[in-house]
Amino acid sequence: MALLSAHRQGTYRGKFTKDFPLGEKSWFRCGGKADLLFEPEDIEDLSVFLKEYPAGDPLMVLGGMANCIIRDGGIRGCVVRLGKPFAEIEIQGNRIMAGAGALNGSVAAAAAKEGIGGLEFLSGIPGTVGGALAMNAGAYGTEVKDVLAAAMALDDFGVFVPLELEDMDMSYRTCGAASRGITFVGAVFEGKEEDREIVRERLKEIKAKRQETQPISEKTGGSTFANPTDTELEKAGLEKGTRAWQLVEKVGGRGLKIGGAQMSEKHCNFMINTGDATAKDLEELGDELIRRVREECGIELHWEIKRLGER
Ligand SMILES: Cc1cc2nc3c(=O)[nH]c(=O)nc-3n(C[C@H](O)[C@H](O)[C@H](O)COP(=O)(O)OP(=O)(O)OC[C@H]3O[C@@H](n4cnc5c(N)ncnc54)[C@H](O)[C@@H]3O)c2cc1C
Repeated sequence: MALLSAHRQGTYRGKFTKDFPLGEKSWFRCGGKADLLFEPEDIEDLSVFLKEYPAGDPLMVLGGMANCIIRDGGIRGCVVRLGKPFAEIEIQGNRIMAGAGALNGSVAAAAAKEGIGGLEFLSGIPGTVGGALAMNAGAYGTEVKDVLAAAMALDDFGVFVPLELEDMDMSYRTCGAASRGITFVGAVFEGKEEDREIVRERLKEIKAKRQETQPISEKTGGSTFANPTDTELEKAGLEKGTRAWQLVEKVGGRGLKIGGAQMSEKHCNFMINTGDATAKDLEELGDELIRRVREECGIELHWEIKRLGER
């Protein structure tokens, strides 16, 4: 891999780290290393890097790693992470411009401070704006596509791509633009003018609700499985609106353990690393539940958490 040579790495301003312990830094706190990590200095640096990166060599972009299992065998090639230089947040009227490296929680807090409502849901979603765009993250009836005005990205060749909402091809927890392999560098969110105190109150409510219902202080990756669609449920003869957690519960998933991995007692669609889980334990637990739900309920659950790298 040409980019692994120290000589090539020296031509960029960003930082390279060989054998970066990616899994340890993920929310699950387990899993393997990345062959190489690149943290670009700014958009221009990232653009040159993408342009020169050898076609065909593996390349992946990650944010806060709040929605992924890094497999124990690690990730081949290079992982790009957008850090502080991409974390700027700027407000103009009711619009919030945020870099892809900004934390969702910081975007929600900045909006609340300015009396902009509608983005509170982001406060309870760990991770970065880049990850929220790629996942069309959402909570409490609002998702990113409801508040997104535009996004900015770089393509495989490092060329800047401005994206309107309709170019994003977003639906429940998916973004077509992301699956075509682009790197988001920023987003423009649109909220509405509201009383600061009311927005702050909603932030507090969300925080309290999360603490009450989710194992947020555990090593977790949020919802393990996406909720099935009504069409899938209908086909399986199940009631419309049935949630993934209800299916997990039905097949004895609450508290189920494999090695150090366990489905949370508090919220049984949340998987947790109880201390010494490997990525293999986590994945086996998820696959076991998919199997049980398939056999006992006649429906296929789909992973919402991304499983990345080699086993
Ligand atoms: C306690 C907890 C609660 C959670 N609650 C929710 C919730 O209520 N709702 C919800 O939707 N999610 C929830 N999640 C999951 C997670 O917070 C979201 O999916 C979040 O958007 C992930 O962002 P991230 O930066 O961590 O992405 P990562 O996990 O790093 O990456 C996720 C995906 O996004 C892609 N990606 C990341 N950055 C970029 C970029 N710049 N350009 C292109 N692609 C990129 C990656 O390639 C990967 O495919 C929760 C997670 C935890 C741990």
